[in-house]
Amino acid sequence: MKRIFKIRKDKNKKIAMERIYDLFEEAEKAYKKNHQLANRCIQLARKIQMKYKVRMPAELKRKFCKHCLHFLVPSLNCRVRLQKNHIVYYCLDCKKFTRFVHKGKER
Ligand SMILES: [Zn+2]
Repeated sequence: MKRIFKIRKDKNKKIAMERIYDLFEEAEKAYKKNHQLANRCIQLARKIQMKYKVRMPAELKRKFCKHCLHFLVPSLNCRVRLQKNHIVYYCLDCKKFTRFVHKGKER
C-alpha cells in the first residue's frame, strides 16, 4: 500500500517538473510582449515547486530572481558579472544580487 502511494507521489513530482519547464518556456515567450505575464508564470512555477517539493533545476534557477520572482533576461533586466568563483546576477527590478557557483574552473 505504501509503495503504491510512493509511486503516485513520484508521478506527481514528474508532472510538476514538466509543468515548471512549460511555465518557464511560456515566460520566455511572453516576456517580449508582456513582462507581467512572464512574471506571473514564474510565480506559478515557484508555487508548484514548493507545493510538490521538487528542486528547481539549475538551468532554471538562473532565469528568475529569487527575491522578487521576476523573469530575468540578461542585458534587459539583469546584469551578469563574473567574480572569482561566482556568477553574480544583479536584478534591476529589485536591485538585489543572486550568486551562483561558477563550475568551470574550480581553482
Ligand atoms: Zn529581483
